[in-house]
Amino acid sequence: GARAPALLEIRELEVVFNGFKAVDGIDLTVEQGELRFLIGPNGAGKTTLLDVVTGLTRPSMGSVTFAGTSLVGRPEHRIVRLGIGRTFQTSVVFEELTVVENIDLAASFRRPLVTLLRRRRGVSDVVAAALERTGLADLADRPARVLSHGQRQWLEIGMLIVQGPRLLLLDEPVAGMSRAERERTGELLTEIARDHTVIVVEHDMEFLRRYASQVTVLHEGTVLVEGDVATVQDDPRVQEVYLGR
Ligand code: ADP
Repeated sequence: GARAPALLEIRELEVVFNGFKAVDGIDLTVEQGELRFLIGPNGAGKTTLLDVVTGLTRPSMGSVTFAGTSLVGRPEHRIVRLGIGRTFQTSVVFEELTVVENIDLAASFRRPLVTLLRRRRGVSDVVAAALERTGLADLADRPARVLSHGQRQWLEIGMLIVQGPRLLLLDEPVAGMSRAERERTGELLTEIARDHTVIVVEHDMEFLRRYASQVTVLHEGTVLVEGDVATVQDDPRVQEVYLGR
């Protein structure tokens, strides 16, 4: 029989803004279970790529398929329902709700009825598991506004995973974090990647060295280099893009 399609397959993708090609022919394949890092200097097209996958931006050319289903032209909420979740650099938590209430609310977006029925019996298993996994169980009853920057990022990741996405897209999850928080985040991403596929946009090279396996480097709307972190780092083209300006 035919080989199963990759979880995410992007072919010959182009995105044009007022005649400017922000994405200029990108091919990208991400297999189920990968923890893929996406790097590249400012303006490389990373955000635009995520915007296309999540249905915020429509490509001018090319194809994007998720488990064999085309995403092009699908509205955002449909793409969420297909199993793609994303964090943004701006926070989406409700400050006055507690940690557990935020996660519970996020869970209810996906399965309103089930959540409602379970709520009568206390916190659902999915919510409890997300609290454990993100290390926020001890803070479950604190309002989100008291969380540190790092804890808030973990809460957002918790709010994503309770929605049961197969693919998670994370935009600079360790930006502004302390060293200890970065380490905790690296461990969390490694754990999450055991049963989800994760694409992370991240600049922190030290973080990449420790936690990345496969890295895709974008530059001027194209894939410059792709491979394991050591290979990518030693590639003269990558060094030129990052240091040669
Ligand atoms: P990155 O996330 O890698 O920094 P972006 O995807 O944000 O890069 O941007 C890629 C290029 O597309 C940049 O040159 C940016 O100025 C341009 N761009 C992004 N969004 C728009 C838009 N809505 N209109 C016009 N140009 C845009």
